[in-house]
Amino acid sequence: MFDEITIIGPGLIGASLGLALKSKKICKKIIGIDHSKKNLQDAIKVKAIDEGREVIDVRIQKSPIIFLCTPVSAINDVLIEIANYSSKDQIISDVGSVKNIFNAKVLKLNETKFSLVPGHPIAGTEHSGALNSLQTLFQNKWCIITPLNNKNKSVKIISQIWKKIGMKVAKMKITEHDKIMSITSHLPHLIAFTIVGTAFNLDIKKKQALINFSAGGFKDFTRIGSSDPKMWTDIFFENKAFLNQTVNSFLKDINKFVNNLNSDNRSEIYKLLKRTKQIRKSILKRESKN
Ligand code: NAP
Repeated sequence: MFDEITIIGPGLIGASLGLALKSKKICKKIIGIDHSKKNLQDAIKVKAIDEGREVIDVRIQKSPIIFLCTPVSAINDVLIEIANYSSKDQIISDVGSVKNIFNAKVLKLNETKFSLVPGHPIAGTEHSGALNSLQTLFQNKWCIITPLNNKNKSVKIISQIWKKIGMKVAKMKITEHDKIMSITSHLPHLIAFTIVGTAFNLDIKKKQALINFSAGGFKDFTRIGSSDPKMWTDIFFENKAFLNQTVNSFLKDINKFVNNLNSDNRSEIYKLLKRTKQIRKSILKRESKN
């Protein structure tokens, strides 16, 4: 058990982490630091943090573990600010959805000013803020750790914390993480954000019909498409290179589909649908074994 853990940006992910840390009695006190006073008040209200602060200052030295749960675009600046007060035995982990984000200055501060262990819990919802936090958010989900080097002790401690709150932990290279996420998470979100706009741009007089009859697939897209615009703008730009590659492959496949449709190639389309069904079946089978 730690005496104190600091969570910077105790919003959906940070406050859920606070609740999970408390429920497993991993630390005695949780400090929340956020530039949103309202979010700090909410995080205290839901009992995700014990104390709220609006600034990073010398008091952060008391936390051996710091979780950085701000939007991805804020991470480098926050790390540079922490370095004004921290020492090399303090471990900092982030939860950012893209991992190739650390700039040269931060990488230089790592080792001398703190020990950085990048991470990404693959758990979340389309909502934001501490009021939407869930103690069980991380239960049975994967957390990916992308170590910067062989800091075995820090990596082990952060992995143990995520495991203690119910996550399965995997280690991989930063580029591997960002490539996988570009297809499993970032492309589906890009499609959801785009398709909702496409539907509302169609020449359909009664737009209400789109809502009334949006059963199944389209409704799911509107849910994903209601995710936080700030967070997703960050993610798309930070993972631009891999997202470009993935979108290009996807466009090729879409073109192939349309060509098969236009040339009445039923068997090719049937083959694709059948293969997709088989892939899902094998994924679910593997998931039930884990
Ligand atoms: P969130 O609910 O919006 O919480 C983030 C909090 O950080 C907000 O209160 C925000 O305040 C605050 N903040 C922003 N910049 C800050 C700064 N420089 N210093 C202190 N506080 C700051 O966001 P979230 O959904 O929890 O996402 C947080 C991180 O988790 C992101 O990096 C995201 O990529 C990652 N993640 C999200 C999910 C998901 O499904 N949501 C899943 C896995 C990982 P303002 O709102 O006033 O800016």
